[in-house]
Amino acid sequence: MFETCIAGSLPKPGWLAETDKLWPQWRASGAALETAKRDATLLSIKEQEDAGLDIVGDGEQARQHFVHGFVERVEGIDFEHKVPMGIRDNRYEAMVPQVVAPLRLAGRVHAMEARLARAHTKKPLKFTLPGPMTIVDTVADRHYGDKVKLAFAFAELLNQEARALQADGVDIVQFDEPAFNVYMKDAADWGVAALERAAQGLTCKTAVHICYGYGIEANIAWKRTLGEQWRQYEQVFPALAKSRIDQVSLECYHSHVPAELMALLAGKDVMVGVIDVASEQVETPEEVADTIGRALQFVAREHLFPCTNCGLAPMPRAVAQAKLEALARGAALARQRYA
Ligand code: ZN
Repeated sequence: MFETCIAGSLPKPGWLAETDKLWPQWRASGAALETAKRDATLLSIKEQEDAGLDIVGDGEQARQHFVHGFVERVEGIDFEHKVPMGIRDNRYEAMVPQVVAPLRLAGRVHAMEARLARAHTKKPLKFTLPGPMTIVDTVADRHYGDKVKLAFAFAELLNQEARALQADGVDIVQFDEPAFNVYMKDAADWGVAALERAAQGLTCKTAVHICYGYGIEANIAWKRTLGEQWRQYEQVFPALAKSRIDQVSLECYHSHVPAELMALLAGKDVMVGVIDVASEQVETPEEVADTIGRALQFVAREHLFPCTNCGLAPMPRAVAQAKLEALARGAALARQRYA
C-alpha cells in the first residue's frame, strides 16, 4: 500500500552537468561523458533506494532535458540549427530543434540507462519518455504541417522505444504530457489517442504524467494566473479514464487542483503529487501523510501511489534527496495511520 516513486527527473551531479538548470550543458564529451552518465545513473538509483522509495527510475541522468533526450535520437530533425520558440502556449521561450524530414528512429534511445538500472536494482523500475503532444510543443515543425500527423509520427517512434524498454525489463513506461494541461481541448480530442498509440501493445504498466511544470520562474508566474481553482484536469481525465493507460501522475500538494478531480480517474492507479517541486522547503512526513489522507477521499488505497508533483531536476541535490526521504517517511506514516 502507498508505494512511492518520483515523477521522473532528479538533479544531476555537478561533475556531470551544470546544476540548477533545466537545459544544462554537459561537463564532458565523448567517452568521458558516457561514463559520467552511467555513473550518475547508478548513483541516482542508489540514492532513491537509500531514501526508501519503492519504485525507482534512472533519474533522467543521461538526457539533457526530458524532451530533447528523446528527440536527439530521431532522424529527420535538425538538432544543429535550433530556433527560439514560445512553448506551452507561449509561456516561455526555448531553443528548439526543427523537424525537416520524415521522422525515423536512429536506433535505441535509452538502452544504456534502462539496462544498467535493471541490472542494479531489484525494485520495480519506472522509465519515462516524453508524450507525443508535449514533443510536438517542443520542436519547430518545418515538414509535416499538421500537429496531429506530427504527434502520431512521434507516437510510432515512442512506441518502438517503449517496447524495447519493456524488453529491457522496465516495469512501468511513463509518458510525460505537461502539454495536456495547456491545450486541454486538443488533449481530449487527439492527445490521449496519440498517447495510446505510443503505448500500443505494451504489456507492462503504462502511465502518463500531467503537471503544471518544473519549479522554474516562468511556471511559478503562470500558476499565479490560473486562479483559485485549477480545473485543467477536469477536461482531460474523462478521456484518460476511458483509455488503456493504467496510471496517471498528477500534482496535488501546494497546487490549487480541487482534490475531487481525482475521482474522475476511478479504476486507474493515481500517482498523487505529495512533494512540491517549486519550493526548496522540505515537506515533513506529517505533511506528506496529510496529503495522502486528503487524496484517500477520492482514490482507493490500492490505487494510490505517493509521488512528487513533477521532476526535481532544477533543484539543489541535497534538497531533492531530503524530499525523497520525506516522501518515503510520509508514506510509511500514512500506512500506519490509514491501515
Ligand atoms: Zn512534470
